[in-house]
Amino acid sequence: MVESRLVDAKATFTIFSHLLDARLLRALADMGFARPTLVQAKAIPLALESKDILARAQTGSGKTAAYCIPIAQKILNAKSSVDSEDALYQATRALILIPTRELAQQVTISLKELLKYCEKEISCVNVSAGTTSHLQRTLLSDKPDIVVATPTRALALLQSKTLLLTDLESLVIDEADLILSYGHDETIRQIFSGMYLPKVFQSFLMSATMTEDVELLKGLTLRNPVILRLEQGED
Ligand code: ADP
Ligand code: MG
Repeated sequence: MVESRLVDAKATFTIFSHLLDARLLRALADMGFARPTLVQAKAIPLALESKDILARAQTGSGKTAAYCIPIAQKILNAKSSVDSEDALYQATRALILIPTRELAQQVTISLKELLKYCEKEISCVNVSAGTTSHLQRTLLSDKPDIVVATPTRALALLQSKTLLLTDLESLVIDEADLILSYGHDETIRQIFSGMYLPKVFQSFLMSATMTEDVELLKGLTLRNPVILRLEQGED
């Protein structure tokens, strides 16, 4: 992580202390994330306002935490609102789609580090690993708050009604520039066909480059998005 990719030499994650739960800030400090990167600084406040986000920022710029942090915070917010009956209702609130099992595993590891002080409040499962029968039990009984999946596995679980997204609040397509080149076009189309997703939810499209594929996904998955195009060295 080079200094130029960080937002401001003086800024720390405490600039978000009014927006972020102390447990997330503590985990970020443990992870050695002293300051938000540019994409994190721009995306986190907008994402907390539930805007759809298209972020293009180079590889290594911290796009994972740019969506994981607001997703975690929104789940904590929902669960801490004492008046809300939803807080007690266990359901999958976020789906993170990643093109390969290896990348899905990496994102899950980062996400679990971020959630280490909120393990009781937020559960997270990578469904791209493990057997389907084991997953079936976990998904149907525990209804993890966050599900990480390749598109293929996500669609199979949706079709078998093992994964239910009726209460989905956030959907991420990470590595958006790669996801279609891995042949996931039809799968993504089916996931977004309207059969499985609620009417209203927030979408994130994260990409290192702006390709025709990303434009296509933008049309398919985002509604009136905020577009963050972060060039190297830009602030
Ligand atoms: P991208 O998805 O944009 O390629 P990642 O989210 O994988 O980037 O992050 C790249 C690396 O930078 C990872 O090792 C991650 O742990 C680290 N990183 C992310 N955000 C920060 C931060 N705010 N401070 C320090 N390191 C960070
Ligand atoms: Mg990434």
